[in-house]
Amino acid sequence: MTFDPREATAHYIDGLGAANLQKAHDYTVGGHWLLLWGLVVSAVIALVIVRSQILDRVERRIPERRKGLRAFVVTAVYVVASALIGLPWSLYAGYFREKIYGRTSQPLADYLGQQALALVLSTILGALFLTGVYWLIRRTGRRWWLWSGALTAGVVAVLMLLSPILIEPLFNKYQPIPAGPVHDAVAEMAGRAGIPENKIFLFDGSRQSNNFTANAGGVGNTARVAISDVAMNKASLDEVRAVTGHEIGHYVLKHTWYGTLLVSVLAMLLFWLADRLYPRFAKAFGSDAPIAAPRSVPILLFMVSLFSLGAMPITSSFSRTIETRADAYSLRTENRPDALSSALVKTAEYRYPRPSEIEELIFYDHPSVERRVMTAMEWKAAHPQPPAP
Ligand SMILES: [Zn+2]
Repeated sequence: MTFDPREATAHYIDGLGAANLQKAHDYTVGGHWLLLWGLVVSAVIALVIVRSQILDRVERRIPERRKGLRAFVVTAVYVVASALIGLPWSLYAGYFREKIYGRTSQPLADYLGQQALALVLSTILGALFLTGVYWLIRRTGRRWWLWSGALTAGVVAVLMLLSPILIEPLFNKYQPIPAGPVHDAVAEMAGRAGIPENKIFLFDGSRQSNNFTANAGGVGNTARVAISDVAMNKASLDEVRAVTGHEIGHYVLKHTWYGTLLVSVLAMLLFWLADRLYPRFAKAFGSDAPIAAPRSVPILLFMVSLFSLGAMPITSSFSRTIETRADAYSLRTENRPDALSSALVKTAEYRYPRPSEIEELIFYDHPSVERRVMTAMEWKAAHPQPPAP
């Protein structure tokens, strides 16, 4: 009997069972609606802040000549105020909904503690960044969007560089993979790819999420691969190899650099659009703030989130392309199509494996699990199986 990739793929996906597929469907599709509703929520928050004139009052209290301080304080107040007003929504979307679907086991207190820490970080970093943007609006005039895009590129690159050493350890514990067969397998793979062994970590992803996941992050010196303990505990040795092969692919192919480049170009485009359309949006929100005044920040950031959502087909397609390449890297270097497929099926719990073409195009930052398994099965049909490890 000849091997039929289509049949093998169907076998993998159907193996999840109808009830699990339905649950994954509801979770994933609901998540897409959440993005749209989130936009409505952020419009309401921006409106409340503009109409309350809280930022106008803060701005007036700081002397005109201290423009940098003014921008920093006004934008910091905005970040904190919008987080507080949006708290019921973010609790629902980020915590209770995840709990309902069994995607997290994190106690509420720990979640809130981490959110508070995240808010402190985003207030400081966000206000610093926005202070830079308002400085550029004042100094570079009509080309501010170009310079702000460049500023975004610099900030994203620095964050990528520093995040694995300064930010991520605040939220999770990263440690070397403990001695044993998994350690030896991963060390051997890393060695083959020319990656120092101490660049591959195990982290306690189970603290926040029950998702089977791993990632490649950082740039330059801090580039590293991290595997969640959830994945490590649920995966066979072959699956760990297949998944690590995928992440090593991201590392070797320098995908985080491409991501940084895309974000920067997109930032320029979004800032340009925001520059053109600002007067109309300000009017709609009932604000008299000129774009150069920091109290324009709720409107400016709402526009950026609106346009970002509009750009989702572009960002998702870009992301799917690099994910496809990382899968191909794993297949090429590890040649474990079945282990890759069975590992991918474990991610289908939180990414419905059979979306429509249009849903996949807009919302999916990874190709659907069905498509990825199909690719693996086609690879299997075309390549002999590896010898047992
Ligand atoms: Zn990936």
